[in-house]
Amino acid sequence: MNFNIVTIFPELIDSYINHGLLAKAYEGGLISVNTWNPRDFSEDKNRRIDDKPFGGGQGMLFQAEPVIKTIEAIKIQDKTHVVFVAPHGKPFDQKTALRLKNEDNLTIVCGRYEGLDKRIENSCIDEVISIGDYVLNGGELPALVVMETLSRLQKGFIGNEESLLDSFSEGLLEHPQYTRPEKTIYGDVPEVLLSGNHELIKRWKLKESLRITYENRPDMIKDKNLSDIEIELLNEIKDE
Ligand code: SAM
Repeated sequence: MNFNIVTIFPELIDSYINHGLLAKAYEGGLISVNTWNPRDFSEDKNRRIDDKPFGGGQGMLFQAEPVIKTIEAIKIQDKTHVVFVAPHGKPFDQKTALRLKNEDNLTIVCGRYEGLDKRIENSCIDEVISIGDYVLNGGELPALVVMETLSRLQKGFIGNEESLLDSFSEGLLEHPQYTRPEKTIYGDVPEVLLSGNHELIKRWKLKESLRITYENRPDMIKDKNLSDIEIELLNEIKDE
């Protein structure tokens, strides 16, 4: 999958993709990442790309022309789906990630200051995505969040495909996990996980997934079509 990131701070993207599994995917050619700086498309002699908003208001906005020219330049090279990351967008979630992971080429536009001149959104953005109900200084972190989530979903990104059965994949949060040693002063590993009884372990994992989801994300339980066993385990949790 190819990512084009439109940003006035390309070094933020470049430094992040040089670590961990993302670096491995990048070096191995599973993903490619190109940064595009709208300043390179500014006609201003100082490469300026921002100006004050009409009608008053705080701060500065990205001007339409340099950003639109940047996206047009990307489109000359590649057929691409264009996303703008912004607080007013639709919430980014695993379902959106599963849809977007099938794009061969994704362009992510990062705002700064107070955001973008609306004409950019009107003329060349396919969808607007928010990573949460809070406001960051810029779109680079959201772009990296989207890029890393989609990269994880590419076949071959994680050696063991079972690792992709993370939170959200089955409509529930992931159950707690433990590693060695079995006993510590901070507590012991639940006995069932050491029992070797695969049926009991499976039941425990499902119950703990349901418990953590019920406690932290009751909205997910409401949205899920629960199976008979899930209803039984949830009732047990409620009776405890
Ligand atoms: N004035 C804007 C508003 O109130 O919605 C906030 C602009 S914010 C300071 C600057 C840029 O950061 C945005 O254009 C966007 O690209 C990015 N950004 C900030 N918070 C974000 C979020 N929750 N999700 C996605 N992008 C975000």
